[in-house]
Amino acid sequence: MKAIAAAFLLVLAQPAHAWFDAGHQAIAAAAFVQLEPEAQQKVGRLLALHPDYPAWTTGVPEPERTKIAFIRASTWADDIKRRQDFWKNALAEDGEHATDNIGYGDRRSHPYWHYMDLPFSPDGAPTSAAPEPNALTQIRVFAKTLGSDASDEVKSYDLVWLEHLIADAHQPLHATSRFSKRLPKGDSGGNLELICLSFVCGLKLHAFWDSLLGQSGEPADAIETAARLPGPDPDRVGELEPRVWFEESAALAQAVVYKNAIGDGEGPFELDQAYQAQAREIARAQAALAAARLAGILNAALSRK
Ligand SMILES: [Zn+2]
Repeated sequence: MKAIAAAFLLVLAQPAHAWFDAGHQAIAAAAFVQLEPEAQQKVGRLLALHPDYPAWTTGVPEPERTKIAFIRASTWADDIKRRQDFWKNALAEDGEHATDNIGYGDRRSHPYWHYMDLPFSPDGAPTSAAPEPNALTQIRVFAKTLGSDASDEVKSYDLVWLEHLIADAHQPLHATSRFSKRLPKGDSGGNLELICLSFVCGLKLHAFWDSLLGQSGEPADAIETAARLPGPDPDRVGELEPRVWFEESAALAQAVVYKNAIGDGEGPFELDQAYQAQAREIARAQAALAAARLAGILNAALSRK
């Protein structure tokens, strides 16, 4: 028990990467089977241009390569935040290069592309708007470029980013930040709120939400998780305007993430079983929705030409 608690603590103590690898991979696996044949074929051609494609597909039988590469590609945007051959700069440091869309020659990891924190305040503290570029501006750019006659190398890069960011957009804490008198610059999507689970204390609220779709980084596990996801909400699945995804996520954050167990004080807040069960259910519903919408965006961009 102690060993399990220690391992879980270690995982939750990592810097925020938004849905751990398992979540991103499960969303990708669920999206892949919803791609039209033509889109699947183009995805295969574009992923083959990725510098990591040989590593992703080593030992994978030919008919499985596109699917496995697509699943592995879903975490690349997080991987590069930890790699020595990429620079992890803040938005201000990247300056005019913050919006570069130049393909794999770009060695910036753009950590500020992973979220758009729509602000709210429970105690009347002043808030500030989400800076740009952010996940919304980049989803728009990448989706548009993917359907254009840009070079295949840039489209490959944009595809891999889209896969990742559309999943991030559906994690409620990638869409909001709580401003308060205690945290006047916001809580960075729950990264500054601490929580306790039954056996361990001092974890980040953000990391708890990232962990809800599992801890594995293996594509085979992701395929299994994907197969067990619920069907996407039929009333929301057709919504392909990305701004709405962030608004939905921010609303979920206020209605659920910051409710009940999470108070306005300093914490750490004890997450009871009811909170955890509801969180898991919402994460699975959001993952199903993210997958269907990712497939919708890719089908629209890649199926017509
Ligand atoms: Zn991310």
